[in-house]
Amino acid sequence: MIVRTRFAPSPTGYLHLGGARTALFAWAYARHFGGTFILRIEDTDLERSTPQAVQAILDGMAWLGLQHDEGPFYQMQRMDRYREVVAQLLANGSAYHCYSSPAEVEAMRERQRLAGDKPRYDGAWRPAPGKTLPPVPADRQPVVRFCNPLDGEVTWIDLVKGPITIANREMDDLVIARPDGTPTYNFCVAVDDSDMEITHVIRGDDHVNNTPRQINILHALGAKLPEYGHLPMILGTDGEKLSKRHGAVSVMDYPAQGFLPEAMLNYLARLGWSHGDEEIFSMAQFIEWFDLDHLSKSPAQFNPEKLAWVNNHYIKHTDDAQLAGLVRPLMVDAQFDGSPDLARAIGLMKERANTLIEVASATMLFYRQPQPDAALLTQHLTEAVKPALAEFATRCETVEWSKAAIAAMIKEVLTSHGLKMPQLAMPLRLLLTGQLQTPAIDAVIELFGRSLVQKRLLNGLE
Ligand code: GLU
Repeated sequence: MIVRTRFAPSPTGYLHLGGARTALFAWAYARHFGGTFILRIEDTDLERSTPQAVQAILDGMAWLGLQHDEGPFYQMQRMDRYREVVAQLLANGSAYHCYSSPAEVEAMRERQRLAGDKPRYDGAWRPAPGKTLPPVPADRQPVVRFCNPLDGEVTWIDLVKGPITIANREMDDLVIARPDGTPTYNFCVAVDDSDMEITHVIRGDDHVNNTPRQINILHALGAKLPEYGHLPMILGTDGEKLSKRHGAVSVMDYPAQGFLPEAMLNYLARLGWSHGDEEIFSMAQFIEWFDLDHLSKSPAQFNPEKLAWVNNHYIKHTDDAQLAGLVRPLMVDAQFDGSPDLARAIGLMKERANTLIEVASATMLFYRQPQPDAALLTQHLTEAVKPALAEFATRCETVEWSKAAIAAMIKEVLTSHGLKMPQLAMPLRLLLTGQLQTPAIDAVIELFGRSLVQKRLLNGLE
């Protein structure tokens, strides 16, 4: 089976989570079948499209690693092609010039509303056998309307929603070109899907209503119809449409907040799709498993806590040296001179971090001067404990510098002074790091290294 899918965002804002999920599914479907994934930028809405939004889409796709095989195609660069197809449809009788003015169309709609009918173009300029069209008004540029079939219905088997049927009588004769000749939205989409030989249109279900119009245009073009799969929306945990209230909705806010692209992809993949109970899987597995048979018909819910949980998983399973490369730029105030190896420090701290920012801030422990709180020092650095700390400091000169040997030495010091672990560990933590919460003290000591430990203990015990 030849599969060609596309992601066709309108560059009117950032790439939001819903768009990224659509892109991911279209991409994975193409990859699953060894097909082609196309990126098309639908930038014909000149008032709302911006180059910054185009860049945001490209950046988001690049960060997620959703590489396209063809494109990006920009609709604004395809205007000649759309004009050519408009001319073709005019020539073969599938479209016609309509000289009704906007005011006339509005008045027509108002009459229909008053009569309790669905407002639609009344076909005044639609040619028909034996019909005489009104005289062409002087100085008025026509729009081009598509001859939508008058009877019958459009049915497609939606790959997500199942069969959908819409009566042609529900549809207007769509304007496909404005008075200045510029083509309109649904027409461009249909021409592109045909020219780009798209086999599967996977998109948000806000486009269900456009589909029968596009199908009718594709029929008029003599094009092969793609299959359509409309993905249900992503909602917030409160069941409302996803918005800023629910956390960041722009994909590119996530790298800045310390999320890994692998985590975002894995999380997005589960929004509306499942493979048994699998929660954590690689993109290779996702591509292998992904089909359109296991898509949910109901809206997915965006859950930031689950995203954080998935991110924590990927942080824990990312190699320490690789994490160090990502985290180092985030540690702006860190003193790296003479300090422990960052990868090893991260290895101690990453377990409980939900974001790279949390990794960075936890790891700062090893890269700043300790400034223990005076009251805490009074509480933990008691006269009873000082001799044990002094012995510990002395034995640091000669002990083999391994976690096991340090742990054994701590035990001996505790025994010889009749102390319990926290009585020694707490002041050690304070003097070495300035805080009471650290990973296991033997691991912390080993990581700091002999000379830094000795220096800080001597300073603290002065
Ligand atoms: N440009 C449309 C959007 O951003 C998508 C069109 C399509 O996928 O057919 O919502």
